[in-house]
Amino acid sequence: MRRVWTTKVLLASAVAALMTVAGIQLYEHRHHSLPIIAGPGVTKVAMLSDYAEGLKGTPADTFVFFLEGKEAGGKILIIANTHSNEPAAILTSLIFLENAIVEKGTLIIIPQFNNSGSRNTRPGDGYPLYFEIPTDWGKKKFRIGNREASPLDQWPDPDVYVHYPDRQLLSFLDVRNTNRTWPGRANGPLMERVTHAAMEIMRKEEVDIALDIHGAETMFPVTNCIVAPEKSMRIAMLTSLTVKAREGFENHVEPSPSGFRGLSHREIGDYSDALPFLLEAPIPFLDQPTGPKTVDLLLDGKDPFLLSLSKKGKLFVPYDESGWPMDKRVGQHCSVILEIMNQHSRKYPEKTTTIRNVPRYADVVEKGVGYYFHNPDETEKKNVYDI
Ligand SMILES: [Zn+2]
Repeated sequence: MRRVWTTKVLLASAVAALMTVAGIQLYEHRHHSLPIIAGPGVTKVAMLSDYAEGLKGTPADTFVFFLEGKEAGGKILIIANTHSNEPAAILTSLIFLENAIVEKGTLIIIPQFNNSGSRNTRPGDGYPLYFEIPTDWGKKKFRIGNREASPLDQWPDPDVYVHYPDRQLLSFLDVRNTNRTWPGRANGPLMERVTHAAMEIMRKEEVDIALDIHGAETMFPVTNCIVAPEKSMRIAMLTSLTVKAREGFENHVEPSPSGFRGLSHREIGDYSDALPFLLEAPIPFLDQPTGPKTVDLLLDGKDPFLLSLSKKGKLFVPYDESGWPMDKRVGQHCSVILEIMNQHSRKYPEKTTTIRNVPRYADVVEKGVGYYFHNPDETEKKNVYDI
């Protein structure tokens, strides 16, 4: 009898010890700050809750940066980290935020759109908690978040998520997925309040173009592409053809299905005057049949299983021994964004956006993403924001 009790106590202690170690790591990840810099182009900093009261004081609130040119023109909204496990998005948005100078028009940037999701993880999939980008001044450390907001911030989940306002039935998890909760509502579940606030920005600021940056599996057909509804289609097509011809990387356009509700590329266009575009770049890390989900896989996209699948024609993107490095993915996003602005300016000259100091694909691939990030320790404190 005594031996049984000793075993029970030992096992319980071991479990408690493991839970404590893991719990401390998860607590630190949730509270880890990422210092980012409002660059010389930033003219105003707001919060998402300034556009939707229901977000005030919640863990879903997040910074909204405005880069206003001296001359009026087009208004462009860049949304990154809708899905925080697709980090090319935040890296791209920070290149714009830290470097862009807007001469004409306005750039609005939300680098950490699903703030709660960026503080969540996916332990069952063995996700690492952080990744680092080398820069001239050291390594910049980022949290690896999850696709959904943390259940610590929005709970409980329903059995089925009934989309608002279409009442389409979606997976229970999608109630925490800010690419299923569009257009949202002021007093809905927390993530609906996040998308509602972004809709309010678009309506109040009269945004012309909304860009939602993502990454998608190489085995998923909707990857390496621009997803666009009917109203954005012409600009998306011209952008895709131009970057392919001039910059030499693959890109295509996918139509936004009108019967699949809750997605940014559908609802933003239906509930505001903005033209939505969802940008996908390949992210091998998210594919199912890969080796361990390591930081190396996240950053260089090299995986032997995907390589062999590619030889069997199972991938939707070109893939070889060089994998799919982060610099390429971020460079593609930079070029596609700049080209969408360019095509929009050509079609609507009175809504021209002129920005400089943002690199295109070839520059990012040559110099690396980290080249464009500035040292927070050498930046005036008032321009450093923890996200
Ligand atoms: Zn995504």
